[in-house]
Amino acid sequence: EIVTRFAPSPTGFLHIGGARTALFNWLYAQAKGGKMLLRIEDTDRQRSTKPAIDAIIEGLSWLGITWDGDVVYQFARAARHRAAVEEMIARGNAYPCYATPEELDEMRESARREGRPPRYDGRWRDRDPADRPADRAPVIRLRAPQEGTTVIEDMVQGTVTFPNKDLDDLVLLRSDGNPTYMLAVVVDDHDMGVTHVIRGDDHLTNAARQTQIYRALDWDVPAMAHIPLIHGPDGAKLSKRHGALGVDAYRDMGYLPAALRNYLVRLGWSHGDQEMFTTEEMVRHFDLDRVGRSAARFDFQKLENLNGHYMRAADDADLLCAVEALIPHLPDAAVREARMTPERRAQLLAAMPGLKERAKTLVELLDNAEFLFAARPLPMEEKAAALLTPEARGHLARLLPPLEAAEWTAGATEEVVRAYAQETGVKLGAVAQPLRAALTGRTTSPPIFDVLAVLGRAESLARLRDQAV
Ligand code: GLU
Repeated sequence: EIVTRFAPSPTGFLHIGGARTALFNWLYAQAKGGKMLLRIEDTDRQRSTKPAIDAIIEGLSWLGITWDGDVVYQFARAARHRAAVEEMIARGNAYPCYATPEELDEMRESARREGRPPRYDGRWRDRDPADRPADRAPVIRLRAPQEGTTVIEDMVQGTVTFPNKDLDDLVLLRSDGNPTYMLAVVVDDHDMGVTHVIRGDDHLTNAARQTQIYRALDWDVPAMAHIPLIHGPDGAKLSKRHGALGVDAYRDMGYLPAALRNYLVRLGWSHGDQEMFTTEEMVRHFDLDRVGRSAARFDFQKLENLNGHYMRAADDADLLCAVEALIPHLPDAAVREARMTPERRAQLLAAMPGLKERAKTLVELLDNAEFLFAARPLPMEEKAAALLTPEARGHLARLLPPLEAAEWTAGATEEVVRAYAQETGVKLGAVAQPLRAALTGRTTSPPIFDVLAVLGRAESLARLRDQAV
């Protein structure tokens, strides 16, 4: 059985790159009928926080990414990590090292002078244990192979070869007995039965070191797939401005989880030139052999367009639910929640067909729906106010009596307005645009006769009277 895992360090929010890694792990497991596990790598006690753990779990849930079994917390497994090191020592594959901080500084310094990467020189590798100083605790290092190469057969990167002379004897246990990250990952992946490690290609060098640890323990090395990182539109490392944000920020900007998921799957993976995927299609087609080797570029425009597609295709009631789920996260949540009365809710739902055609995010949709919530006298955008010339106000005044007499449906009010335009010989737009301004305070809105219907007779007529001369 295929077992993948997502192993975030809870030192910050669930950023967009992490979300994509999680998605790929989830999809691969789903596609192969396997499992995805979740491991929180909280060994860095200073930087790991509970809010970060919550943000990861919330972000995954919002995106619809599920995991199998209980969440594994890495720090809780420290005793097991130490036991694995005992095993390596017993096999002669690890040894205590008593080099002082000054000695290590000196090694770093001379490497710098000679222009080569810093490297532990192995001075305790073969030293007689009787030499050990009584006054300090050792670190435990891996007895890494010094000759030959360590080879990774990566499912995305292909064969990657590391000369062993470049990889020094890495620390497995610190002098306080705490396991290092490199050790913990290997022991946990092994114990959790992970068969496929799928993660960012910034971990490729770690993969070589981890492979050496697997070998020292005589364990099978899992299959690996190092996926290219996400870059900004300019090809440089992804910056905040270019989208390096937490998943919660995307939620708060009004993206639908399904749209973000669809966007993320295409960052690095392709299936022909198909852009839109239902979850079921993603699962059906996903495989690692279609993950490219070059960095994916983040493109806000594309995400917005995709989100617009998803919004237009969404069921009106589902979209209303999405809007209501977003409101608590908006800066003015309390005000918005108070305004969302059952009546407004019903109006919002009725206006949804027109609103969803005109918005690329839920935030934009809510902004366009502002006319439903605004109290009279209606706030006017400048461009809308400019439409309400004396002449336009005259039209509104003359439209009031026939509208008052009309049946209140989009069709009937449209007939009234068309008849008026015909009789007076003005263009429909010359009447419809002032109507829109008076009813919504804006120059764009859903179709104006739908607006009349949604607002209802009393409120519509009152708004028109406010602007008519
Ligand atoms: N905890 C590591 C990170 O957040 C990932 C480790 C791994 O996937 O092996 O980058």
